[in-house]
Amino acid sequence: MTTVTIIGCGVIGAMIAYELRNTDLEVTVIEANSQPAMGSTGAALGVLMGACSSKAKGDLVTLRLASLRKYDHLITELTQQTNLDILYNRNGILNLYRSSNAETKARSLIEIRKEQGFELQWLDQNHIREQFPQWHTDGGLMSFCDRAVHPTQLVKALVTAAIADGVKFHWNEPVKNLADISGDRLVITSGLGSNPLISSIIGKSDLLQPVGGQALLVEIPHLNLQTVVHFENEDGSDVNVVPLGGDRYWLGATVEFDYEQLPRQANEKLLLEQAIAWCPLFEKAKILSTWAGDRPRPQGVRAPILGFMPKLPHILIATGHYRNGLMMAPITAQITRDLLLEGDSDLPWQPFCL
Ligand SMILES: Cc1cc2nc3c(=O)[nH]c(=O)nc-3n(C[C@H](O)[C@H](O)[C@H](O)COP(=O)(O)OP(=O)(O)OC[C@H]3O[C@@H](n4cnc5c(N)ncnc54)[C@H](O)[C@@H]3O)c2cc1C
Repeated sequence: MTTVTIIGCGVIGAMIAYELRNTDLEVTVIEANSQPAMGSTGAALGVLMGACSSKAKGDLVTLRLASLRKYDHLITELTQQTNLDILYNRNGILNLYRSSNAETKARSLIEIRKEQGFELQWLDQNHIREQFPQWHTDGGLMSFCDRAVHPTQLVKALVTAAIADGVKFHWNEPVKNLADISGDRLVITSGLGSNPLISSIIGKSDLLQPVGGQALLVEIPHLNLQTVVHFENEDGSDVNVVPLGGDRYWLGATVEFDYEQLPRQANEKLLLEQAIAWCPLFEKAKILSTWAGDRPRPQGVRAPILGFMPKLPHILIATGHYRNGLMMAPITAQITRDLLLEGDSDLPWQPFCL
């Protein structure tokens, strides 16, 4: 039987393990930490922004939409298999806008997504006043198909289901050198920890750059928000408000290329001020906690990094998902499975190879 060793158990490693669980492959996951999702995944907000995102282009959109299409079924299947709670928001994402050309751009995206089978709707000021009276905006793009998932709950369920189907997990085992690992095939899913493992192969020790992000858990009485809300600040940065049930919400995250220390107090004030500019009720927000993490951002190549390692076809890599690891995990797992079993995939993976 062909053995496959996956290095790293964030959302990407866990999703691949789950995808491979019922194949003829013998799968082992090796994780440096004592439990899964202790890297970037543990800091993420789990926003699955596929249909309403206009930033991604070409093959990346194809992959994001294909990933989004898999999520509803995946969550149902995982919940049935594990009986674990996975907080999964099916109420969509509302994107708020103030710029004068936002409606024109949004209407063009609505048409494009309609042809791709996704429903978006432009909400004018009156609609927003009726449906989202707490929010001050000229208009918004409502995406009914986009989702949000609780990252650590998702990974816990993936690992639980994979274990039940025979995948082995080794915790507290940081891989120092790829040559130390047994297995016919290796899959590198170690996020920022991939740098030292692949540096001698690619002749570069900083392929993945850490990009910091800080977020808040807040309590806000009477916000009564069921959908995820996303807005852009004047400086072009963007923020999500993710409902968690009751009066609790995640708010974030900052995007920081250069920083000495995270989390920091100034960011708590900054995030709240940004939210207050769109929803004055945030003045009443009580901060319950704050945390930060690093996103794995590829340098010099596009995100994410998928496919075979150069000149080493028995080693695959699936990392560098930057701000969209949760969003892209299901399709990344499908591509990795296709490559392991067939040597190719019908999905556009080549543009993301090293
Ligand atoms: C604040 C913040 C908010 C975010 N919000 C979102 C969001 O809303 N939506 C979204 O889609 N994405 C979001 N992201 C991005 C997302 O978190 C990442 O893209 C994703 O988690 C990457 O997953 P991964 O499995 O590749 O990496 P990781 O989660 O970092 O997992 C890598 C794993 O490999 C292990 N590892 C490392 N080195 C070794 C080694 N040598 N041996 C063994 N194991 C090793 C690590 O311990 C870790 O468990 C956010 C990120 C941050 C920081």
